[in-house]
Amino acid sequence: MTDAARRADLPERMCPSTPVANATVFLGMITPAGRVAYVTPSTPADVALAAVDADSDAPIESRYRLAGPCVTSSCGFWTGDHCGLGARLTESYREAVDPAEVELPKCAIRRTCRWFAEQGPAACPACSHVVTDSR
Ligand code: SF4
Repeated sequence: MTDAARRADLPERMCPSTPVANATVFLGMITPAGRVAYVTPSTPADVALAAVDADSDAPIESRYRLAGPCVTSSCGFWTGDHCGLGARLTESYREAVDPAEVELPKCAIRRTCRWFAEQGPAACPACSHVVTDSR
């Protein structure tokens, strides 16, 4: 198989922490404790966001977690061959979490998640604490 054919076989990678403008999947809600309550099965972002409180002054990204296509070199976190944010977050939780005891949350994008593909299950405990910075 050629490199091009191999790449064509790969699923599109999804960014698990994307701004609303790039969102295609509603990943979950931020709980009052600052954790992500993941939503399954996969729900289109536009469908879910049509039902959210439009009167709130808080940015959508501070209340919900959204996923969308990874834009690689168009993102400031892209290192050239992987997501630097996913790597940094996973590293920051590595000592606090025993990978053998990680219970993976039920999330809608694991099969195509950029962070999971690059960092493995250790990405998920870190992911559950992330509130997207939309600035
Ligand atoms: S890092 Fe884990 S929990 Fe977060 S979106 Fe990816 S697969 Fe799901």
